[in-house]
Amino acid sequence: MTPATLFIDGRWEAAASAGVREIRCPADGTPVGTVSEATAEDTERAVAVARRAFDDGPWPRTPAPERGDVVLRVAARLRERKEEFARAESLDTGKRVVESRIDMDDIANCFDYYGKLAGQDAGRLVDAGDPNVVSRVAYEPLGVCGLISPWNYPLLQAAWKVAPALAAGDTFVLKPSELTPHTAILLMEVLDEVGVPAGVANLVLGAGPVAGAPLAEHPDVDLVSFTGGLATGRTIAAAAAGTVKKVALELGGKNPNVVFADADFDAALDNALNAAFVHSGQVCSAGARLVVEESLHGRFVDELVRRARGIRMGGPFDDSADTGPLISAAHRDKVTEYVRRGVEEGAVLRCGGTWGEGELADGFYYAPTVLDGVRSGMSVVVDEGFGPVVTVETFSTEDEAVGIANDTRYGLAAGVWTQDAGKGQRVAQRLRHGTVWINDFHPYLPQAEWGGYGQSGVGRELGPTGLAEYQEAKHIYQNI
Ligand code: NAD
Repeated sequence: MTPATLFIDGRWEAAASAGVREIRCPADGTPVGTVSEATAEDTERAVAVARRAFDDGPWPRTPAPERGDVVLRVAARLRERKEEFARAESLDTGKRVVESRIDMDDIANCFDYYGKLAGQDAGRLVDAGDPNVVSRVAYEPLGVCGLISPWNYPLLQAAWKVAPALAAGDTFVLKPSELTPHTAILLMEVLDEVGVPAGVANLVLGAGPVAGAPLAEHPDVDLVSFTGGLATGRTIAAAAAGTVKKVALELGGKNPNVVFADADFDAALDNALNAAFVHSGQVCSAGARLVVEESLHGRFVDELVRRARGIRMGGPFDDSADTGPLISAAHRDKVTEYVRRGVEEGAVLRCGGTWGEGELADGFYYAPTVLDGVRSGMSVVVDEGFGPVVTVETFSTEDEAVGIANDTRYGLAAGVWTQDAGKGQRVAQRLRHGTVWINDFHPYLPQAEWGGYGQSGVGRELGPTGLAEYQEAKHIYQNI
């Protein structure tokens, strides 16, 4: 029987085509569930529903603070159901449940942030220079949003879109990754429970080119907000151009982690390992490009390799595991080829490069890998690997460090390690990356903008700008 896992107009439905997908845990192949896959017609129907809910329904006309209260209730309910969500996320992704629990806290915090922000900024008065004119700028709901999210942080990346869209008064169709649908299904349950009106929040599941593509192409979608790979982002931007809709893109990264010789050695090392290997490197902001001052290189990289060899791989519920599997066999093949090519181009394989064996053989494990001696222009320096692979480059001067760190088409995030506060600030200002961490790596805040320079994306998520992406600004000029 086809499971009713699409959520359209407040009802659970099976897809028109009766297509199904079986989800298995990447850690060991355990069956996790079977979901219905939407056809393009299902997605178009969901768009029509979202359009009607925006044009005629109550949500965009509900006072913003009241919408904010509903968004706050989402946060509260997510906290109550945290364990259920965390387990579902770990089964779909294979990630350690301790990490999924942290993701769930972050997701609830994101809904809290936008729930509180809703209605706080009613616009602004503008001085027209004429006492007979009242001129103001108002922020209005934008319309119907197509939200497309990836598999690495499935619910977190969806939440960064859903929470501001709801707070802004928009309606939406969410299309999560076909590989990790379960927490999106649970989220729809929660939105329904807390009183989001039917038709406001819609969910379609399935392959991107089928279930997702109409969200970029459809004339009734006002904004497509996409998080995923660069190539897909280009396809979506091109498809969206046909109807000149707004486009928000959160794409990949090739993020430098710059370690100066005066850094706190232990803190820099701990963080370099975490930056590169957490969630097996399947993180858009992974510190996959270590850029170390020449005089520190030998000692730092020897210790990095020693510690990387000790990282224990294991399933989501294995308390002794430090990291989990890759998402799929196809992705592991991609990472394997990426490392092979790097070595062929002259990179020195210091550790890793192997698959999980023995009790890990049924999962898609890839050992933490250090590639030393890489140079500008090599494919492992240019392309995102999205696996547990860190490359090592060296520099001798501050200028050289900045030059290497900025030598990328991406520009999502960067780390800087130094005990010289002035140098930290100086280098941070020169880095062309959307987030710069000084003496840390990976923390982010819902109240601070997230997004990329260069080909890491267009627009920003989180912070007040993350809400503005889901609004229209209207200038009302009154001659009194
Ligand atoms: P992906 O591009 O393969 O897929 C992302 C989503 O797009 C999925 O839901 C997929 O089904 C959908 N999709 C694919 N083709 C489509 C099409 N033609 N039309 C509409 N939708 C389509 O990416 P992925 O492999 O799921 O995720 C990994 C990538 O995401 C990495 O490159 C990573 O860096 C990036 N990412 C970026 C951020 C960020 O904040 N910048 C966060 C997480 C992941």
